[in-house]
Amino acid sequence: MIVVLLGPPGCGKGTQGERLSAALKVPKISTGDVIRSAMKAGTPLGLEAKSYYDKGDLVPDSLILDIIRETLAAPEQARGAILDGVVRTTPQAEGLATVLAGLGRTVDLVLMFQIADDELVGRLSSRVVCEACQSPFSGRNPGELHAECLKDPAGHLVRRKDDDPDAIRNRLNVYHAQTAPVVAWYKANAGPLVEINAVGTVEDVTARMLKAAGQIGSA
Ligand code: AMP
Repeated sequence: MIVVLLGPPGCGKGTQGERLSAALKVPKISTGDVIRSAMKAGTPLGLEAKSYYDKGDLVPDSLILDIIRETLAAPEQARGAILDGVVRTTPQAEGLATVLAGLGRTVDLVLMFQIADDELVGRLSSRVVCEACQSPFSGRNPGELHAECLKDPAGHLVRRKDDDPDAIRNRLNVYHAQTAPVVAWYKANAGPLVEINAVGTVEDVTARMLKAAGQIGSA
């Protein structure tokens, strides 16, 4: 099963994607995580992506499609994939469809997480993430920065460079300009798109998502 998670930065698609991955027993692929690991390791991808990433701009479509092509062809993805943070532009949606067609697959479900900008700014400004496992922890107070991660004792909580106020504003502008049109593309061109209300507790949103995925009871 191929599921695309769409939604603005901070809408919770990473956290919900983990839960959907566990429910469907299909791995989650996050291009943001791939890029952060590449930047940390100083690979050519990381070096090329860094200037875009730090400002909150999208990295070029060609880099993203290279990641997608390579990842989806790997044996780990034989049962499918939950795509978190891909796609973010219409050319990426078209490119993903072509890559999948080459593998004899299509997008089975697009989940669109709906939430207002004001709520997102609050969430992202108070977010810290584990530098090791990249798990986000929302709403923790700044005193907890550098604290030990609750999931990975080897990791400490840090602020993401692109969660500073200027980058947050830019990421939301980029989302509205470049990613929101992808919703119309999916409605016109491919598989079922379901809108999910992303306001509420993590459990509330998970229940809505699993209902949409027809998976309630199998989580
Ligand atoms: P995320 O962790 O999904 O919020 O992504 C963090 C950053 O990684 C984005 O602001 C972009 O700079 C880059 N990025 C991740 N996925 C994509 C994508 N599909 N297209 C372009 N840039 C991306």
